[in-house]
Amino acid sequence: MRTPLIIGNWKMNGTQAEARALATGVRDALKRKVAAGVAVCPPFTALPAVAEILAGTAIGVGAQNCHHEASGAHTGEISVPMLKELGCRYVLVGHSERRKEMGETDELINRKVQAVLAQALIPVLCVGETAEERNQGLTFTTVEGQLRAGLAGIASDGIARLVLAYEPVWAIGTGVNATPAQAAEVHGYLRGIVSELSTKETAQGLSIVYGGSVKGDNAQSLLAEPEIDGALVGGASLKAADFVAIVKNAVAARGVAREGRSR
Ligand code: PEP
Repeated sequence: MRTPLIIGNWKMNGTQAEARALATGVRDALKRKVAAGVAVCPPFTALPAVAEILAGTAIGVGAQNCHHEASGAHTGEISVPMLKELGCRYVLVGHSERRKEMGETDELINRKVQAVLAQALIPVLCVGETAEERNQGLTFTTVEGQLRAGLAGIASDGIARLVLAYEPVWAIGTGVNATPAQAAEVHGYLRGIVSELSTKETAQGLSIVYGGSVKGDNAQSLLAEPEIDGALVGGASLKAADFVAIVKNAVAARGVAREGRSR
């Protein structure tokens, strides 16, 4: 069974002082080792402060975006080598808010995935359908298109190093999460495509996390699904206690799922 991975996406929230306090809260509450990967993605401006606070812990730091070029005349952009220098391990790529607000295309997202892999960081490639697409029966078509385009030209060894996030747009920030069955169904579908694009082993080893209104009280039922390998958490990652409750409930769910399997 894959180790659960819980990633907090702080979005455009937090001054440096607030980010320091939040990172310190998460660090202190997770002093004892947990059977999960944990990472937080603060805004760019807070990355150095958060990286400093989390240095020497098992909690990873990630960025919420990057440019696809390593350097050059791209005013206002941040490159992957810059993020690497700050100690980032993960980079979110293709979040639906960027697809929608910044017009990011699948082609651009693919270039970003390649740029992150080229620096040996871990892209967290986000895919997900809108409510309209789900209502029209286009969930699988949408996520498949985003996945195939996002991974175009990437060899199996690259695919093996990334994380996929299934984030139905209708569940992000709405308080309405996908049911464990709905999410597991899409995760299974995505894993099948990854298997086609790479190898069965790569697909089996790949972490596919779910994002969309994950909270302490639904984390356990979501993570009890063997297909759901973790969570990308927005709103509930902004309070240390809420985020840590998700981590702990995810770990508990995995323990229960494991027990169930060995019976
Ligand atoms: C997100 O934006 O990645 C997200 C999952 O947000 P929320 O948890 O607030 O729905």
